[in-house]
Amino acid sequence: MSTSRTPTLDPAKDRSQVRQKRMIAEHFERLARAKEEGRAVVYTFVPGNLTELIGAVGTLPVLPEINALQSGMRGRSGAYITEAEKSGHSEDVCTYVKCDIGMLRSGNIGPTGTKIPEPDLLLLSYTGCFTFMKWFELLREQYKCPVVMLHVPYQADGVITPEMRQYVVRQLRDKVVPALEKVSGRRLDLDELSQRLALSARAEDDLVAVWESARHRPSPIDGYFGGVYYIGPIFSAFRGTEDAVAYYRELREEIEARVAAGEGPLCPDGPLGPERYRLVVEGPPNWTSFNDFWRMFSREGAVVVASTYTRVGGLYDTGFRHDPAHPLESLADYCLGCYTNLSLPKRVELLERYIRDYQADGFMINSVKSCNSFSAGQLLMLRELEKRTGVPGGFIESDLVDPRYFGKANIENRIQSYLQMLEARRQGGYA
Ligand code: SF4
Repeated sequence: MSTSRTPTLDPAKDRSQVRQKRMIAEHFERLARAKEEGRAVVYTFVPGNLTELIGAVGTLPVLPEINALQSGMRGRSGAYITEAEKSGHSEDVCTYVKCDIGMLRSGNIGPTGTKIPEPDLLLLSYTGCFTFMKWFELLREQYKCPVVMLHVPYQADGVITPEMRQYVVRQLRDKVVPALEKVSGRRLDLDELSQRLALSARAEDDLVAVWESARHRPSPIDGYFGGVYYIGPIFSAFRGTEDAVAYYRELREEIEARVAAGEGPLCPDGPLGPERYRLVVEGPPNWTSFNDFWRMFSREGAVVVASTYTRVGGLYDTGFRHDPAHPLESLADYCLGCYTNLSLPKRVELLERYIRDYQADGFMINSVKSCNSFSAGQLLMLRELEKRTGVPGGFIESDLVDPRYFGKANIENRIQSYLQMLEARRQGGYA
């Protein structure tokens, strides 16, 4: 079995993949030139990111979680985590944080081999994960740069009230925008922000069409393993750009062509064979053995038709779109609606909807010990979903970027037993 670490989707076949690769390379080149060109750099997180606003004042975003997962895929995270643990970070800390700290202490070389510039501002959009606060406290100590925090109220009752929206809008207007203007030396042009939000909405339409294509049989996409490539541009530096619009248009066309041809998704070993199991997955993937993990499903004919991880940076398939007519309100709604900001009952509701809408045979939880934001309550979710849908759930444990916590044989055993159980049920062997 191949143990290659980088994904092997066929770039000659997928023009969108080629485009995405170019977009990412150009972004890191812009970052490498940022200091000499006098452009300010803003570090921020994926959930609740304010990419259109960051772009509208001429600053460049860096997303530390994306750097961490890229380090995981490139086999560098283990050494970075060891480096962070040597400096006192405990084993229980989110491994994205330790990977980022280790990378920083090792020269801060980004995934494309260029040095990532230091931040001029840490923009902490707080959408439900406490670790984000602690992470930026560590970076503030290191870089001695200002932090601006956008406090996003938790959706405890599952609704966004006008007061919650106004609370976020006030902070955007009175704190976040002035902080961005100060580091960039440029005033926010609201018209430009609106134009960027209009571009976001166009890309979001196409992304939703891609997600919904999984209703077909066979599904033309894998909405978890393949899905992490699809979210790349919109969850990182490109929401609100022409590049993102072109990428999602191209991707949608490719997927529609696959539907028309009755084809399943491309997997690490080529096109998926006959579709045998349709699954919904909750929880982030493992990045250090990403292809091996994917193969554990694809070799059994299991395709993921929907996942919650691919919604962390925006939940567009429930109807939200960025709205150019109400720029700050729309950014507020986006932050409030992030998956990490949803209550447990709302998360269960979403998963239930996916299981029903995409006619899943089963659902799988990949529980990541060091990510409290996702793993808290997952066993409860499993029981509740089984009760509501009658569809059996599976439970595996791994980690994001710490290779020590990916027990390959154990995980493979569990997945195979789970899929055999689904097969036995189908044959009438289980009640
Ligand atoms: S704990 Fe989870 S949600 Fe929070 S930063 Fe780490 S990986 Fe992200």
